[in-house]
Order: sequence, then structure tokens, then C-alpha cells
Amino acid sequence: MSSKKKGKLIIVSGPSGSGKSTIVRYLLKQKLNLVFSVSACSRSKREYEIDGKDYFFLDVTDFKKKIEANEFLEWEEVYKNSFYGTLKKEVLNKIEMGYNIIFDIDVIGAKSLKKIFDDQALLIYIQAPSINAISKRLNLRNTENSKQIFTRLSKAKYEDKEKSFFDYILVNSDLDEAKKNAIIKVKEFLN
Ligand code: 5GP
Repeated sequence: MSSKKKGKLIIVSGPSGSGKSTIVRYLLKQKLNLVFSVSACSRSKREYEIDGKDYFFLDVTDFKKKIEANEFLEWEEVYKNSFYGTLKKEVLNKIEMGYNIIFDIDVIGAKSLKKIFDDQALLIYIQAPSINAISKRLNLRNTENSKQIFTRLSKAKYEDKEKSFFDYILVNSDLDEAKKNAIIKVKEFLN
């Protein structure tokens, strides 16, 4: 996108319940000069989430205003009436300042960012061992109702078909192992 390449982008994607947020949080705690790209979204805030830290929570009208104003690098209606998007102001200045940015976004968003940033971005797909494992994790974490779980499982099947587009597929059947492999891959890319 710019000739003045500085920071790099680590884009982590994969089905809901694959463990991607856990792995992103783990990577953020390592000394990798990583900052999290806080997305905007129009779904309601979960009890444990903090506005401005986990997401910028907007209503659908305000989200659409930002689309009109061309404030997003990419955005998606990830679930019906739930819009999610990467704000230009979250990313461009930080890269310019030399920060490496880590993203937790869906596969379509990941592909859009790869098209913009090319080899400045590493795309990591987190793969759960099976749909059953995803279903178990979603039921255990108890943040979605059964209809939402069904939607997320259907999306997981679609996402799995897109994984060949990614630079690295990280199988998360053993979390400690997955964390170790993630750190190796990220360090390799950043150096
Ligand atoms: P959740 O509602 O569970 O926080 O997120 C739902 C999905 O939206 C996840 O797959 C998450 O990675 C994705 N997501 C979060 N932020 C963005 C974004 O800015 N853009 C896109 N395309 N997807 C996002």
C-alpha cells in the first residue's frame, strides 16, 4: 500500500471456537513489539469486554456512516446485522510508526488485507482439530445461544475451505504446542 514499509501485519483468522483469540492474546504478551488492531463492530458488547480495547462498539447506523466516509480498510457483515471492520486510523499510522500489528479477523477480511499489504502481512489460519471440537468449545464458553452456535458452525465449514489461501495453517489440537508454533512462525516473519 505504501512505499514506506515499516511495521508488519500478523493476521490471525479461523473459525469461532478455534482458539484464535487465545493465541492472539498469548502473542500480545510476548516481547514482539505487537499491538492489537481494535476493530469496530456492531454486535452488542459482552459483559467482560471493554469498549475501545476489545472492539469499538457502534450501532449499525454509525457503522454504516463510517463505511460511507471510507474509514475502513476492510469491513464485513460477518453475521446478519453484525458488521465488523478494520479502521484505517487503527492501522496506518501505527505501521508508519514501526509497530507490528496483530489482527483477529474473519477469513474474508484476512484475504482483503493480504491483497492490500501483500508480503508485509503474514496470514495465519487457526484450525481446530474438528467441527466437533469447535462445537464443544463454543458450548463451553457459553457466550452464544444455540442459534448463534449453529451459525458459527456453518461459517466454520465455509472458512475451512478458504484456508489454502493462508501463509501458515496452525493446528490447535494442543494449545501449548499451538502457542509454541505460533511464536516460532511470528518471530521468523518479523526478523
Ligand atoms: P466475535 O463476535 O466472536 O468477537 O467475532 C466474530 C468474527 O468476526 C470473528 O471471526 C472475528 O475474528 C471477526 N472479526 C473481528 N473483527 C473483524 C474485522 O475488523 N473485520 C473482519 N472482517 N472480521 C472481524
